[in-house]
Amino acid sequence: MSPTGLELSTLGHRIRHHRVAHGFTLDELGAIVGVAGSQLSLIENGKREPKLSLLQAIATATGTDVTDLLSPEPPNRRAALELELERAQLSPVFRRLGIPPVRVTKTMTDETLEAVLGLHRELQRRERQAIATPEEARRANTELRLRMRSHGNYLGDIEKLAEKQLKQAGHTSGALTHRTVNIMAAQLGFELIYVNDLPHSARSVTDLENGRIYLPPASIPGGHGLRSMALQAMAHRLLGHTPPTDYADFLQQRLEINYYAACCLMPETASVAFLTQAKKDRNLAVEDFRDAFGVTHEAAGMRMTNLLTEHFDMRLHFLRVDGTGAISRVYENDELPLPMDVTGAVEGQMVCRRFLARAAFEEQNRTTEHYQYTDTPAGTFWCSTQTGTTAAGEFSITVGVPFDDARWFRGRETTKRATSTCPDPDCCRRPDADLTARWQGRSWPSARVHMQMFSPLPAGAFPGVDDREVYDFLERHADVG
Ligand SMILES: [Zn+2]
Repeated sequence: MSPTGLELSTLGHRIRHHRVAHGFTLDELGAIVGVAGSQLSLIENGKREPKLSLLQAIATATGTDVTDLLSPEPPNRRAALELELERAQLSPVFRRLGIPPVRVTKTMTDETLEAVLGLHRELQRRERQAIATPEEARRANTELRLRMRSHGNYLGDIEKLAEKQLKQAGHTSGALTHRTVNIMAAQLGFELIYVNDLPHSARSVTDLENGRIYLPPASIPGGHGLRSMALQAMAHRLLGHTPPTDYADFLQQRLEINYYAACCLMPETASVAFLTQAKKDRNLAVEDFRDAFGVTHEAAGMRMTNLLTEHFDMRLHFLRVDGTGAISRVYENDELPLPMDVTGAVEGQMVCRRFLARAAFEEQNRTTEHYQYTDTPAGTFWCSTQTGTTAAGEFSITVGVPFDDARWFRGRETTKRATSTCPDPDCCRRPDADLTARWQGRSWPSARVHMQMFSPLPAGAFPGVDDREVYDFLERHADVG
């Protein structure tokens, strides 16, 4: 491996340090080691890489050894300053500014160097501060998920509040109508107004002064999205939210308003009655729960995580996975082994290829739920998965339970079975040995940049690229091409 510019600069500084300490000029040392002074100068300035034999000669002449010359440490304070400046001027943060780099000369004082470096350090500190935000977001998100996990994903106070509001509005059973949502708003002193010009960054805007909640127009008439958004806007008010002080606070509020909307659309009493009957019939199914309350598959699946542990002492998991296999929404309290980054974040991680959450994208029939038993290092799990498509692409919604609880669910008789040993790379990440032998070094994929906030870079032969997918792709096309 050839040395970097910075490594050559450090080496040059160390050679100069030992030469000057021995009182040699460039020409004098050059004469001893057998090169021109000008050559030595280029080496000291990091512009030339010396041969090992020359390094040995220099080490002998200056009473040191090659290992010392090759040490990555700057030999003195001045060299340290110059090297730090060189490094700072090579950084992308600095280069983006388009400012010409400072050329360090012998006459430049240490104070000048210190001042320029001070500016660089501050520039880098500000850059780090700016990029600490996604990190903070991941941590806050993980903390909130773990806190909810310890409560069985259940918030009793919000359940009761929703039931009270629904009762006041005269709602007794079945799907929550737009009309009832309007009544609920009116009881809080608000009118719901649908407009075409909401700010892009807002889902709804509440005019506290004039008692109005502005919402986007219905894109799908009868879809549950609008009712949900109106309920979420009301929830901010009902739950006494004040402007969030940090990201964790923002996430907590967002979770609470989502929770409130879910409680209104699928009220606790009616939902538990529905689920109790389905469990008794050994016919629990997300799709039935969804259809009974007129909500999305995702909302119904997520709602099960609120109620099944609290009311039936059942542990379960919920996954929303996008077409690339990345987890975009997750909850589990059944110990399902999930991929996790160093901060403990699961969102954005690639789920095991053997999981139905991912395998279901290969199914031909996408209109109904698919079922599967999956053996994992933490035991066997059963799950049901439904796939769907939005403008943003494919997704799958999965709800699953440990083996013993599968008996309450429709689809328990499935014969579909898979084995996952993830995070063992041999489970589903490592490409086949023969394909690796065939394509490694003979292919060059270019990574697609993920736009999702929590997205990771899958580790493989190429950063950001799933090499197994690439080799499989190449193999499929090799004969056709
Ligand atoms: Zn796997």
